[in-house]
Amino acid sequence: MDCIFCKIANKEIPSNLVYESENTVAFNDINPAAPVHILVIPKKHIESLNELNDKDLMAELLFSVKEVCKKLNITDYRTVINTGKEAGQEVFHIHLHIISGRPLKWPPG
Ligand code: AMP
Ligand code: ZN
Repeated sequence: MDCIFCKIANKEIPSNLVYESENTVAFNDINPAAPVHILVIPKKHIESLNELNDKDLMAELLFSVKEVCKKLNITDYRTVINTGKEAGQEVFHIHLHIISGRPLKWPPG
């Protein structure tokens, strides 16, 4: 399967990894929307939140968000999961965005 995030998780292509847990990795977004823009993904290929049924992995993904922020001293941040094309999902390997480093508007639009 040709999935860019699988390749990053398997370290087949270089990325700026900032954190790794047993079943997740986190790396810098290649096209950052803010001064801090990190993606947390499962090592296993899962297309979107709709296909994620493993509650332990769900917890580990969200816990990894906290661990990344703790490690990088990020206290104020937004966590986003885009699910499906209309919601803005472009890469169909589930990822949690961590966005920080500037004031963020709400609602996002
Ligand atoms: P989404 O629109 O929620 O699917 O988000 C996909 C994100 O992946 C975008 O913010 C992209 O900038 C980012 N992205 C795509 N390819 C790469 C890559 N090779 N390395 C890091 N981030 C990437
Ligand atoms: Zn994948």
